[in-house]
Amino acid sequence: MADTRAIETPFYLCEERLLKRNLEILDDVQKRSGAKIILALKGFAMWSTFPLVAKYLKGCTASGLHEARLAREKFASLRESAEVHTYSPAFKEGEIEEIAKLSDHIVFNSINQINRFLPKVKEHNPNIHISLRINPEVSASPKDIYNPCGVYSRLGTTLKNLDESVIASLDGFNFHALCEQNVEALEEVLLVFEKNFSKYFKTLKYINFGGGHHITKEGYEVERLITLIKKFRLHYNVDVYLELGEAVGWECGYLETTVLDIFENGMPIAILDTSAEAHMPDTLAMPYRAEVRGAGEAGVKKYTYRLGGNTCLAGDVMGDYSFDKPLVVGDRVIFEDQIHYTFVKNTTFNGIKLPSLVMERLDGNLEVVKEFGYEEYRDRLS
Ligand SMILES: *Cc1c(COP(=O)(O)O)cnc(C)c1O
Repeated sequence: MADTRAIETPFYLCEERLLKRNLEILDDVQKRSGAKIILALKGFAMWSTFPLVAKYLKGCTASGLHEARLAREKFASLRESAEVHTYSPAFKEGEIEEIAKLSDHIVFNSINQINRFLPKVKEHNPNIHISLRINPEVSASPKDIYNPCGVYSRLGTTLKNLDESVIASLDGFNFHALCEQNVEALEEVLLVFEKNFSKYFKTLKYINFGGGHHITKEGYEVERLITLIKKFRLHYNVDVYLELGEAVGWECGYLETTVLDIFENGMPIAILDTSAEAHMPDTLAMPYRAEVRGAGEAGVKKYTYRLGGNTCLAGDVMGDYSFDKPLVVGDRVIFEDQIHYTFVKNTTFNGIKLPSLVMERLDGNLEVVKEFGYEEYRDRLS
């Protein structure tokens, strides 16, 4: 393990070695299943890793203009015929021309949006591929906030809302219905998706199975996924895409912080130079509990602390953790698996400093690729 003592906290450290391991697993899936895998920038957008990522993945999926531009500038420049796919719940008039020019694929969310923007998109990029996001209305997503197919969902077009007159304009269908799930969940979605929509597949070139496939997690049934994709491709004579965020950044780095103060208020409390709200938002939104290196659940080891952030939000708490030795001011505390859905969501709430971005290169060298200061806080305000 690299010696990070000289690097000022807080920082996210991405281990290229572990990222490469994920990419190799995904590349194996691509090669043996014939699926194309692209990176969902919304979950992982550390572009200093893109020289490595672009060796394996075929492109990026963007959620709008800024991500599409990043995909074009920082990813497509590194890989011949890299693909930029752009989807937004709704595109806006003032951005559609630029989005069309930046994208190889555009994914509409509704029939209205197709009718409104298709001519303009084609005018500015005659070669662009057109897809429609389907809401298959089935999902085993564990939490409502991450369930794209829940009641009143705004994400995708349901069977009832599908106006068949648009099918002739489409190259593909997209769905995205999973969140950190195994093949079984995909099979459940496909059962309904195929039953309701396969009658339209004949004229389509591809089906995009979205993200949420937890392929790089230990225990994921990779062989079952490969078999399923191969069968699907051959049966319908379509390409299959997966667009992954979490599975790319899964367990390939951590957030390192420092203990700033310790005191008692009914229980020992440690304040860290980070924030659950600003730097680890999923701990509050999901909610989920991050693993702390060397620590256990409260009460399991001898010394239990409530670990909290350095903002004025009362609920800015990462959780209660126990340690073998008492914590002291200046100790480093490491939150595991903090590379996906963390810095892409960070805020400067409370004026708290954004964590630096650090890379541990394949040769073990540490490189601070980005530091943030007062300017980032100031420049988002006026
Ligand atoms: C978020 C998202 C993804 C990526 O999901 P992961 O869970 O990070 O794999 C893919 N497609 C769409 C449409 C998304 O919104």
